[in-house]
Amino acid sequence: MDIQQNVRQILSELPDGVRLVAAAKTRTPAEILEAVTAGVKIIGENYVQEAARAYEVVGGKAEWHFIGHLQKNKVKKAVGIFDMIETVDSVELAREIDKRCAQIGKTMPVLIEVNSGREAQKSGVFPEATEALAREMAAFPNLRVMGLMTMGPLAGDPENSRPYFVATREIFEQIKRLNLPGIEMKYLSMGMTNSYKVALEEGTNMVRIGTRLFGERDYEKTAPANEE
Ligand SMILES: *Cc1c(COP(=O)(O)O)cnc(C)c1O
Repeated sequence: MDIQQNVRQILSELPDGVRLVAAAKTRTPAEILEAVTAGVKIIGENYVQEAARAYEVVGGKAEWHFIGHLQKNKVKKAVGIFDMIETVDSVELAREIDKRCAQIGKTMPVLIEVNSGREAQKSGVFPEATEALAREMAAFPNLRVMGLMTMGPLAGDPENSRPYFVATREIFEQIKRLNLPGIEMKYLSMGMTNSYKVALEEGTNMVRIGTRLFGERDYEKTAPANEE
């Protein structure tokens, strides 16, 4: 697996204005550093503990985005590391991030995670509740709502993701049109290894790619024992 070559290949494929988030769960700091050397500007991490280890090595050479399910008891540590939290899906979580950011004098850019497949067991706010959550989140002084993120149901055929990307894009545009104070709808984060091409066709400007850059994951390592 030539990480540097993969990164350069993907970067050359992405249209101008589309940001690449290297989804780095289970990867070693050395692997992440290789991706950064080849031009990755944003690292996406699912676990705070794992991110903290990688951060010690890679640090300010890249931006850090949290893309996993954030537990409230990890927020304090997370706000010290991350430059953006892409997965805010409740007022309670937003409030905790706001509070912890206020304590360290930071304003956190966040995306709202939309459960576009309306799957009961998945994270994210249901599509029809997204606007209301955005309005509530806009009131927190230490948060800055900057867009939406979605996974969509994980499907073998990337075409199956298209309706969920379309629906999320529509919500994105709709909230953007409202011009709500405190909300800047700038980023639409959708598309992974198997679906980023479809996501690009449907207007994403932030893709989160892991496998295509780093190779297959060792699933034994996806959920570190000290988290989740
Ligand atoms: C793992 C992960 C990705 C990347 O998945 P790949 O299929 O490896 O590209 C993107 N987004 C989130 C939230 C992830 O957890």
